[in-house]
Amino acid sequence: MHFLSADLEAYITTHSEKEPDLLKELTRETHLKVLMPRMITGHFQGRVLSLIASLVHPNYILEIGTYTGYSALCLAEGLSPKGQLITLDKNDELSGIQKRYFDRSPYGNQITRLTGKALDVIPGIDKIFDLVFIDADKAEYPEYFEMVLPKVRKGGIILLDNVLWSGKVVEPVAQKDSTTQTLIDFNKKLSEDPRVRTVVLPIRDGLTLCMVK
Ligand code: SAH
Ligand code: CA
Repeated sequence: MHFLSADLEAYITTHSEKEPDLLKELTRETHLKVLMPRMITGHFQGRVLSLIASLVHPNYILEIGTYTGYSALCLAEGLSPKGQLITLDKNDELSGIQKRYFDRSPYGNQITRLTGKALDVIPGIDKIFDLVFIDADKAEYPEYFEMVLPKVRKGGIILLDNVLWSGKVVEPVAQKDSTTQTLIDFNKKLSEDPRVRTVVLPIRDGLTLCMVK
């Protein structure tokens, strides 16, 4: 989804940090070999994730929805030297490409990949996180959020991707489109949730930034 003109999008990307070569290669390989490549984080949003992670400088990051590992590699750039990133995905066919690119990056030994459904896997993760990136099944965002909130330290950050859902959150909802309705209700609830400070950033498909109070 592009909310800005193509010229402005290009200008913004040109005037932001360059995309690391390994991530360019991962994007190419994802487009060639993996289903639904439009799910991958792009150059600009990847740099935003990297800078946010660098500001937080986390010891522990949790990512829900690895796909081919692009966003994980961006977030890992901000890890403290001994920091760890745990990323999970239900699709085990992605393990090969994830592992290859993580191993080629400087963060291979700081990243743990878990395979399984988020709602099954998250309760078994016994860590306190400084940063969480939620990017798996949009219909399950409310459950992910409630599950991770007790695992995030005070002042920690929860990011949620695709919260504008191609702009559908401000359009009449199609009768059978329960995912959009879930996102509309969840975005509203989050904006009123006293446990977090919330801003919706109009970055790509919408990126919500929450700080835990
Ligand atoms: N964060 C990635 C993109 C994630 S795409 C990036 O920016 O590059 C969404 C991913 O969530 C897909 O790989 C899909 O397999 C995974 N996913 C969807 N539902 C899930 C679930 N219930 N549990 C775990 N992973 C899930
Ligand atoms: Ca996404």
